[in-house]
Amino acid sequence: MPELPEVETVRRGLAAQITGRTFSGLSFLEWPRTIEAPTPEDLARRIAGRRVVEVQRRVALDNDEALTIHLRMTGQVTIAPHDAPRDRFERVALAFADGDELRFSDIRRFGRIALYDREALVARFRDLGPEPLGADWTCDDFVAALARRRTRLKPLLLDQSFLAGLGNIYVDESLFRAGLHPLTLAAEVTPAQGARLHATIREVLGEAIASGGTTFSNYRDAFGNEGDYYERRRVYGRTDEPCPTCGTAIARIVVGGRGTHFCPTCQPSPGAGVAMIVPFPAVAARRDRLVAEPRAGYAVGDENGAEDGR
Ligand SMILES: [Zn+2]
Repeated sequence: MPELPEVETVRRGLAAQITGRTFSGLSFLEWPRTIEAPTPEDLARRIAGRRVVEVQRRVALDNDEALTIHLRMTGQVTIAPHDAPRDRFERVALAFADGDELRFSDIRRFGRIALYDREALVARFRDLGPEPLGADWTCDDFVAALARRRTRLKPLLLDQSFLAGLGNIYVDESLFRAGLHPLTLAAEVTPAQGARLHATIREVLGEAIASGGTTFSNYRDAFGNEGDYYERRRVYGRTDEPCPTCGTAIARIVVGGRGTHFCPTCQPSPGAGVAMIVPFPAVAARRDRLVAEPRAGYAVGDENGAEDGR
């Protein structure tokens, strides 16, 4: 599942390639359900003659409408001449007036393209939390927001209405660098720890974007390149490997259905006070049972099933 760095990498690639270009319609449609709204015919009519004024994480058109492209699990966007061969997973192509196309390929077919007017766009994204790279996501606001939540850090940071764009990899990496255990209650994070976490989230995202994102399964940027952040990750998917800081074996637990990786030494358990009385393995085992959820309950091939495979 692409997270913010992957989406941001795709966005930068698209911005460089399509800003200022004018759409002329729809030139290919293999899987109509990829177009979520409006109907394919309506979308083709409404984008025809519209110029791309900006590519945010949504593509803004010059009549105040916006095209949204949800990559979901396997979506890829590329720009190609209209007569270039189509790959066999191509679902939709939007034509530009100059003869090129914006092509959307999607092995799993969960990706969606939609066109919204300004009002519908605001409504559609109303429930999204602040973006961690946005100027309006301040350290003070984040520390205050943590203090109000009796939720454990791992699920809270994955909650898109709390913070938009972080997924499993970057949450594990950010918590590791901040030295915070994934089961810590948000309300128990000190202001200094919260400030550190705010900084490490930006640091991890910044490095991931500089690396072109994380390539797992078939993620590619808008130029078709792979990202190499996966090689740089410190804890995610490194169960039993030595911690790069202290050498302790990286542990894996399941929190809210998601595989969670951390260093038991660098990220001490929030129940450390108990560990002084009860032997540590006993505490660890009990805590594991408390948070573990059976993986067998997931639909075959959902994002959790794929997360450790590469
Ligand atoms: Zn460590």
